[in-house]
Amino acid sequence: MIKFFLFARIVAPLRGACGGGLMVLQTFYPSGVMTAQIVISSFSKSLCTANCLLTRTFHFCFLSKLMVDSCKSGFHSTFQPINQPTNQPTNQPTNLSTNQLFNLSTNQHINQSAYLCGMAKFFLRKKIGDRVVSGHPWVFGNELGDSEGTAEPGDIVELYSSNGSFIGKGYFNPASQIRIRLLTRDKRETIDDNFFYNRIKAAWEYRKLLGYVENCRLVFGEADQLPALIIDKFNDYLVIQTLALGIEKWKGAIVAALQKIFSPKGIYERNDVPVRNLEGMEQLKGFLSEPFDTNIIINENGLKFHVDIENGQKTGYFLDQQDNRRAIAHVVKGADVLEAFCYTGTFSMHAAKYGAKSVLGLDISENAISTARRNATLNGYEDICKFEAVNAFDVLKLWVKEGKRYDAVILDPPAFTKSRENIDKAVTGYKEINLRAMKLIRPGGFLITASCTNLVTPEMFLNTIGEAAKDAKRIIRQVEWRTQASDHPILFNVPSTQYLKFLIAEVQ
Ligand code: SAH
Repeated sequence: MIKFFLFARIVAPLRGACGGGLMVLQTFYPSGVMTAQIVISSFSKSLCTANCLLTRTFHFCFLSKLMVDSCKSGFHSTFQPINQPTNQPTNQPTNLSTNQLFNLSTNQHINQSAYLCGMAKFFLRKKIGDRVVSGHPWVFGNELGDSEGTAEPGDIVELYSSNGSFIGKGYFNPASQIRIRLLTRDKRETIDDNFFYNRIKAAWEYRKLLGYVENCRLVFGEADQLPALIIDKFNDYLVIQTLALGIEKWKGAIVAALQKIFSPKGIYERNDVPVRNLEGMEQLKGFLSEPFDTNIIINENGLKFHVDIENGQKTGYFLDQQDNRRAIAHVVKGADVLEAFCYTGTFSMHAAKYGAKSVLGLDISENAISTARRNATLNGYEDICKFEAVNAFDVLKLWVKEGKRYDAVILDPPAFTKSRENIDKAVTGYKEINLRAMKLIRPGGFLITASCTNLVTPEMFLNTIGEAAKDAKRIIRQVEWRTQASDHPILFNVPSTQYLKFLIAEVQ
């Protein structure tokens, strides 16, 4: 097969020419006979998409000439592959507006490297475990052996086993320890705008099936076969995080799909997360739709909550606890409740709704506490729910000494570590706060305790609670042992998809 190489600068004008429009790609044999015509609607602004379409066209058609005709802009231009003699022009924009539009002379958006027609292939090394083959979508750099062809950071590549059998296609990023993240294991599946539309649609159908209609984690990365993509839906608003370079390149296609499926009131990106630096990307946040008021109100379990999409923690609200908040109903009736690490007071509000006598919420963040107070007012619980901006570690210690007592203590601290080296410290942190909480609980009261540290396994967490109980000289009896809400699905072959541990226990 003859391979044609194409300068990426052909792609750059396409990106400008076709954003959101309708376009026709026509390909020709050298004789001038047309080989294929593809009509593409809602063409993505994504450079990557344009690149994929072009390379695929070249791969399947023998051609030396590509004519691109955007129906909307009247853009008309001819291109030739770079394996033409150098004295022939490689790019002949035919009218002035084209030049003005795309600023070709300054080479804006131009990536100087050449794209190989057809996807680059990567082969797993011999003698590695069967993790990838048996379903895990991540391929680490040290698991890869040979490769064929070249791939730009963020390109879609093909993955093969060491003996050459096809495994899947996914994003490639040489700057990341996770070199490839697989999107599909079906060789016939094309990764294009439609692929992302279909995946997001399927994720939405699944949420609806499970009854998560108003607010939900619409896309939970690997668990929805969209690695490194997070989308939270807060009624008519969507908040997205693209946490790997590969998915970042499809942001345009993702936003177009969300517009088509939901016609939302607004889409916002909360990409102000350090993990993006590991992928060589900057941190940023901002609108991906027309600007809108980012302070919204959502309904959950019959309560109302203020959510600050722009400045709240993570995507603004912790949807993973939405079912667990309901689970406290039977253990807070008539109780004096203490909620440490309360953020905007979501568990506190639920405790009040389920009949708590008094609720005190603590958080180190003044912003969170101010929103918690507004949530109490919004729900008419300002007499029951009080909030204080304090360091929970200090206060719990002090209040044990002072002999304060509660009927129920809720603990939902932030992740204590993201690195394996610090797991022991994280476990020590859990032991400390749970030990103190148990000492604050009246006999027969309840501990409601959570851990969202991914690296602390359910077994480790339960052991830690057991150790804390031993040290506190209390007997604990399990009421419920839970995990994250099922709009954050757990994939058995991707252990990191199960991260939330949630225990309700009677403290005797
Ligand atoms: N339960 C909440 C989420 C809690 S997130 C909900 O479901 O909405 C963890 C919270 O712990 C964050 O709001 C963070 O500000 C707070 N936090 C972190 N360190 C803290 C500390 N030392 N003392 C008190 N709060 C702390």
